[in-house]
Amino acid sequence: MDATIGIIGGSGLYSLLDDAEEVNVETKYGKPSDAISIGTLFGKKVAFLPRHSRRHTIQPHRIPFRANIDALSQLGVVRVIATNAVGSLKPDYKPGELALPDQFVNATHGRHDTFFDEDVVVHVSSAEPYCPQLRELAAGIAEKEKIPMHGSGTVVVINGPRFSSKAESMAFSAQGHHMIGMTQYPEIVLAREKQICYMGIALVTDYDAGLAGRPDIKPVTNTEVTRISSQNIEKAVRVISGMIKDMPSERLCECSRALEGAVATKPQK
Ligand SMILES: [Zn+2]
Repeated sequence: MDATIGIIGGSGLYSLLDDAEEVNVETKYGKPSDAISIGTLFGKKVAFLPRHSRRHTIQPHRIPFRANIDALSQLGVVRVIATNAVGSLKPDYKPGELALPDQFVNATHGRHDTFFDEDVVVHVSSAEPYCPQLRELAAGIAEKEKIPMHGSGTVVVINGPRFSSKAESMAFSAQGHHMIGMTQYPEIVLAREKQICYMGIALVTDYDAGLAGRPDIKPVTNTEVTRISSQNIEKAVRVISGMIKDMPSERLCECSRALEGAVATKPQK
């Protein structure tokens, strides 16, 4: 039942896999968000994990990130493609567009964000946290499919479940960041600690609070958000399908060696 490609995302992605079977994986960090579906796409075994559970009952700050990444790692996953809904902090990141973030800023708190908190000290680099090989592959598919896709961008990850105040949003925007979400961190750094390639497809759903004050940019309505979200998922499915079809077997990136340069020491007694 091993799968080397894992997908973490929400509803709308279930239909991707042929002959999916569900597996329940136990981890030392507890249960993952839900059972993991393993199925085939273009002859490749793919594992799908619904981040918020199938019934969408797990809020962003309660997602069992460590159990999710550990479970995928146990199944043999070495590449994770994740989808994340985000708000835009910049006028040119428009609702309905997709983006391939290349950086994150962590503004969460209280989330377990390492597997190494017992007897070994490990400092994993997160200088370039998103897999460059997967990002390049995704950008190429989007171009071929004519799907609007920003090739880079910084995502600020906030704790949620509340949205930002206008002041918070304007501060993030003024710092030069592009998007804001609640789910990429610590998923991405935990994947790195397992030497898994991680790539996020950010689905721009609306403008965050800070842009609402601009008269030239109208706040979106709830109906528009729903419509944009389903269109975003449809585009993401096309990108992900293309990626899996064209996925090279060899990993040419540094992700698989993420622990090699990490300082690892036993604590002084
Ligand atoms: Zn990689």
